[in-house]
Amino acid sequence: MPVPEASVIIAAAGAGRRFAEIGGPLNGRTPEERPSKVFALLAGRPVLAHTLDCFARVPSVAEIVVALPADKVEWAKQTFSNPLTGGRRLRFVVGGSDRMESVSQALDATDRSTELVVVHDAVRPLIRREIIEQALHAAVEHGAAVVGRPVDHTVKAVAKDGRVIHTVPREGLWLAQTPQVFRREVLMQAYQHRGNLVGAVTDDAQLVEAMGQAVVMVPGDACNLKITTPEDLRICEMLLAAGWPFGA
Ligand code: C5P
Repeated sequence: MPVPEASVIIAAAGAGRRFAEIGGPLNGRTPEERPSKVFALLAGRPVLAHTLDCFARVPSVAEIVVALPADKVEWAKQTFSNPLTGGRRLRFVVGGSDRMESVSQALDATDRSTELVVVHDAVRPLIRREIIEQALHAAVEHGAAVVGRPVDHTVKAVAKDGRVIHTVPREGLWLAQTPQVFRREVLMQAYQHRGNLVGAVTDDAQLVEAMGQAVVMVPGDACNLKITTPEDLRICEMLLAAGWPFGA
């Protein structure tokens, strides 16, 4: 099945406070100038540069729109060369105060002619081309697809004081990652109605689910780590040094 053209949104506008608080690498700067995890160096290049490369390898990607903190947009335009070939565009826009607002700003800046929209967190720099392509195919077929992993740990509900309340059956539980891929009209409608949702919204698929629209899960892999702590960054370094994406 041929895959139609896709716009890719990279959410990169987070301050990465947790990462800074616990001491991400200084990369020659003072603690105050410590880069957020999106710009921390991974194998000598910013995390974001690796993430952009992953999507540049996918032929159906027509453009990439990156949501950044306001003070990083001009710098990013100078710093990041476009990894996309053949006239495909890389653009940087100012993100918002939360992740959903950042995705919304980037969605507004996408080219309306693409049929699919991919949303991905900049802080997942090790996403394999085959997994992106499987998610694209699943979204063509079902309208919305999320990459994720089945829960293989024992899950406990824990009170604030540290006491275990109960064990949660893990049967049928999955951890959602990104990328998440949507038919354009599905995601645009979901964002138009996002004001109706109460409570925390932690991914884009949640907005689509709230509309009663089917979302399918696409099995991902354990290397698609979300960099939250300096330890995660070190694990990504080790995976790259060990030859990630391992023969793909
Ligand atoms: O904070 P968290 O780790 O959940 O962020 C996930 C992704 O969303 C990161 O890539 C971060 O840069 C992005 N984000 C964003 N705009 C915000 C907050 C987070 O683009 N306001």
